[in-house]
Order: sequence, then C-alpha cells, then structure tokens
Amino acid sequence: MSIFKFLFKKSDLECPRCLGKGFVDQEDIRRLNRQLKWVPAPCAYCNASGTTSPEMLANVPVDASYLTIDLPESEIEKIKNADPEMLEKGRQKELFLDNLIQYVEHHYQTQNMNAEGIAELYIKNEDERALFAVDKEDLKEYIEKIIKLKKSEIN
Ligand SMILES: [Zn+2]
Repeated sequence: MSIFKFLFKKSDLECPRCLGKGFVDQEDIRRLNRQLKWVPAPCAYCNASGTTSPEMLANVPVDASYLTIDLPESEIEKIKNADPEMLEKGRQKELFLDNLIQYVEHHYQTQNMNAEGIAELYIKNEDERALFAVDKEDLKEYIEKIIKLKKSEIN
C-alpha cells in the first residue's frame, strides 16, 4: 500500500541522493562516495519519485549505504521511520563492508596479493560467528572491484 504514498504526498523537495532524477547513476555514486556499496539503480531514498519529505531528510542520511532499492519494502519503511533495530542492522552491514574493504586494501598494498589469494585468506580466517556469510565467488568479484577502485585512486 505504501508504495503509492509518494503519489499522494505533496512535496517539492528535490531528492538529494539522485538530484531529482529518480535514479542513482555512476555520477551520484561517485559524488556520495559509495562506489563499493551501490550500483546504478532506481533511487531508494525517494522511491524513484525524485522528491522527498522533511521527515525523510531528518531521519535518514542521504548517503546511508544500507538504504538500497533491493531491500524488502517493509525494511525500507522501517529505515524511513528510523526504527532503532533496523538502523543498527544497517550500521552492522556498513561496518562489515568497511572492515572487509580495509582488509582487502591492506593485503593488496602490503602483501601484493591478488583477489583470489585475498578471498582464500579471508574465508580461511573468517570468524565462525561472523554476522554475514560470504560466498567465495561473490567475495572474489567484490575484492576485484575494491582493487580496481584502489588502482584508479593511485593513478
Ligand atoms: Zn532520489
């Protein structure tokens, strides 16, 4: 039901995430420094409407990594309402990714390891109590993305 909410809510506040396009593109991703966390997709911040509300601006940071369009609608609603449990889950997810990115950068720069090697090492040393399980092929692909970005920063 809430999917239609934006149609009825009058608002002329331009969405600061997609700048009113309703779509987050590479340019927006770069501007918000979320290259390793988002891919181009319809904007979750404004539900692809291009406009947002004062409540939304107050409750959710524009660059909140965890608010993406692939989440179930119920979770998106919870984030918009600043549900503490949901925000904590989002923080954990972000922390997990930040740690992983640091881990990869460290091994790439100091040990000169490739994505395959780093993925193997990471999985071997993975904490059994880790909050997020990772699939090796997905992990490798993600590590390649981190290394590629790192290289482009150096050059
Ligand atoms: Zn937007």
